Amino acid sequence: RVSGPTATVTHDDAIFEARIDPRTPGRPLVVGDRVEWRVVGDERVITAILPRQTLLERAHGLDGPRRPIVANADLLMIVESLHSPPPRPTLIDRYLVAGHVGQLTPVIVLTKSDLADAAVRDPLVELYRSLGFEVHVGCAKEEAFVEELRATIDGRVAALVGQSGVGKSTLTRRLTGVDRAVGAVSDLIGGRHTTSDPRQIPLIGGGWVVDTAGVRSLFLPPLDMEDVGDAYPEVREGRANCRFRDCRHLDDAGCAVNPLFSPSRRESYRILATGP
Ligand code: GDP
Ligand code: ZN
Repeated sequence: RVSGPTATVTHDDAIFEARIDPRTPGRPLVVGDRVEWRVVGDERVITAILPRQTLLERAHGLDGPRRPIVANADLLMIVESLHSPPPRPTLIDRYLVAGHVGQLTPVIVLTKSDLADAAVRDPLVELYRSLGFEVHVGCAKEEAFVEELRATIDGRVAALVGQSGVGKSTLTRRLTGVDRAVGAVSDLIGGRHTTSDPRQIPLIGGGWVVDTAGVRSLFLPPLDMEDVGDAYPEVREGRANCRFRDCRHLDDAGCAVNPLFSPSRRESYRILATGP
């Protein structure tokens, strides 16, 4: 975890606080970064950030500067609830784009199956599976579902994202045994009790989750529509056949891509192309 001028570092089995040298190139440091550190006097100091394999970013406000949130996570677990709050497919699509741009592998996790109506659940599961995305459906309170997600993470690092109330904290608690409200990790090392900074927490049995529950909504940084298209299987499939040069695929008259979109995907793509 990065909290202001210090970060919590794990090195082999040790876990300690280190000061971030303000001259470290490539700052800001974010959760998940791999670093070089050294002992200076009686403190440990971070002096370098190693190259990032993946990066989840957001923009501050709609056109604000980019800000990194999570580095080096393998998976982007997009958590949506099937009931209260109701699923927002356009939000799933935004996260899918964020994952694609940052090179994280997306996994869609639909929670509250115990409260869900099949009429809400089935079309959503069918839509995303038919596009080739991995979808898990279940109740965050059920051990079998938590085990299914643990097997999906399979020793890797999963960043959990999603709207408030969808079950991220519940899943994090079940997967790690750590309660974000209690802040067991900071207790362990005598640190602060800030709960808003994302933390990377070891899973029981291997792997990690990055808990971003304290990060307010994810605005996508300004996007290249080429990258957005790459994140939409419909666009990848149809664009070579589209007979218009520089087509934005927003109208179906003669466009080879537009008819491939489901209504919600057409809408999310339109928002990404033109703004809300
Ligand atoms: P977060 O804001 O995404 O971290 O969501 P929480 O984990 O705090 O969950 C919000 C509420 O939904 C809590 O009251 C949870 O107990 C409840 N909840 C989470 N997952 C499920 C689920 O799969 N089924 C049901 N019925 N309730 C759930
Ligand atoms: Zn087109």
